[in-house]
Amino acid sequence: KGMIEFSNVSFHYTPAQPILQNVSFVVPPGQTYALVGPSGAGKSTIIRLLFRFYDVQSGNIKFDGQDITKVTQKSLRRAIGVVPQDTVLFNNTIQYNVRYGRVTAEDEEVEAAATAADIHERIMGFPDKYETMVGERGLKLSGGEKQRVAIARTVLKAPEIVLLDEATSALDTQTERNIQTSLAKVCERRTTLIVAHRLSTIIHADQILVLKDGEVVERGTHEELLELD
Ligand code: ADP
Repeated sequence: KGMIEFSNVSFHYTPAQPILQNVSFVVPPGQTYALVGPSGAGKSTIIRLLFRFYDVQSGNIKFDGQDITKVTQKSLRRAIGVVPQDTVLFNNTIQYNVRYGRVTAEDEEVEAAATAADIHERIMGFPDKYETMVGERGLKLSGGEKQRVAIARTVLKAPEIVLLDEATSALDTQTERNIQTSLAKVCERRTTLIVAHRLSTIIHADQILVLKDGEVVERGTHEELLELD
């Protein structure tokens, strides 16, 4: 569960400007996969294709072995969790913000399991503040702390795949690294994690795909890519 295959995918928003050209890659279930490349390389476009905000013009995308055009929007939304880049928090407690959107008994079970697994502490690093009010009249959280709340909210949905699009992130490098590290730990081997980033500051990826102008220019592990230089 959580496997993605791109086969010879080409995509354009308008015919005059090809964006992705013959992009192929496989993300095995449970791996941490990095999409790296300069701004405009096509990283966010790949993420949008995973949601079927757009369909490809040629090639195909498979999700757990099934052509993505045959998967319902509902199951995609259930299977994929996105950590937004800029998190707006409610003027309420951290707990309310983490739980937001999950009200069913099943959700509560998932949350209970996650709590037992110590996710709050590992991701958020401030479990003691769980009941604390945040926002305008409460505690001011930094950008990194807000993103941790967003991560907790996403991970507690227990998606098969977590997407972290830091392609245009405003966070500093150290904060980004800390967030990637905690997310990788939480996802480890159970949840596929796809990180899009402009630089190769991604330290925990099993595989890295380097894109430039919509084409794959390198791929491999950290070690393999370093040897190429
Ligand atoms: P990255 O995430 O790597 O910075 P993007 O996938 O956002 O790259 O963009 C790849 C290319 O697609 C860029 O040239 C960008 O201008 C173009 N692009 C992105 N979104 C749209 C859109 N909605 N309509 C037209 N062109 C777009």
